[in-house]
Amino acid sequence: MIKAIFLDMDETLCDTTKANLLAKDHLTQYVKDHFPSTDAAHEFSEKYLQGIYKNLSSELEAQLFPVLDEEAFRTELIHIFFKQCGAISEISDQHAHDIRKEYDAHRLQKFDFFSGCKKMLKDLREKFTLIVITNGPVYSQQPKVERIQLSKHVDHFIIGGLEPEEKPQKSIFNKALNLASVDAHEAIHVGDSVSADIIGANNSGIKSVWINPKQAKNELADFSIAVITQLPDVLKKLNSL
Ligand SMILES: [Mg+2]
Repeated sequence: MIKAIFLDMDETLCDTTKANLLAKDHLTQYVKDHFPSTDAAHEFSEKYLQGIYKNLSSELEAQLFPVLDEEAFRTELIHIFFKQCGAISEISDQHAHDIRKEYDAHRLQKFDFFSGCKKMLKDLREKFTLIVITNGPVYSQQPKVERIQLSKHVDHFIIGGLEPEEKPQKSIFNKALNLASVDAHEAIHVGDSVSADIIGANNSGIKSVWINPKQAKNELADFSIAVITQLPDVLKKLNSL
């Protein structure tokens, strides 16, 4: 019998892509408005969004990794990408700081649960211990959990950036098992990332549920659903609901 449900946050409970894209468009407009001489605002925003997800050239990785201070890292990205987008001249530290804050504030404002998710969590919480396990730096994850008031909707949340290891490592799943006081066979983990969520759960002996909106072929997860609100169907199949 399932007693605890572990849940990823980004792209599982919350529509992170939507918030990112809206913030990126906002950033493009902000750069156009404040640096009207440029015609590379769009290119800059694209690069910045990739950059904050650490999708960087090996050259930039060598220059910037390991990232010890996320805020300084992002400010440096802004300087670098302004230079790379040739049409834009160099900017001051204050301007880089303002651009970073503008993107962060707008992204946070747009960050929210998927439709129907809060109601589902409320219902499930009557029967299960709910624990969110989210990877990522405290810099970006803490404001997000505060924005959606996550602690009101689940029993615990674990931010990978505060732990010795992130998903897919066993230690972070063990922490969740301990918090819920359950064994691995009494838990399921739900997430959209095969490498972090599904492989992580599988390696810890926890049943895995893949958020798979494109309905891609599923070879690794125990269950596959298109959206989080289909989770109760999985629990019914497991005779737990
Ligand atoms: Mg995710």
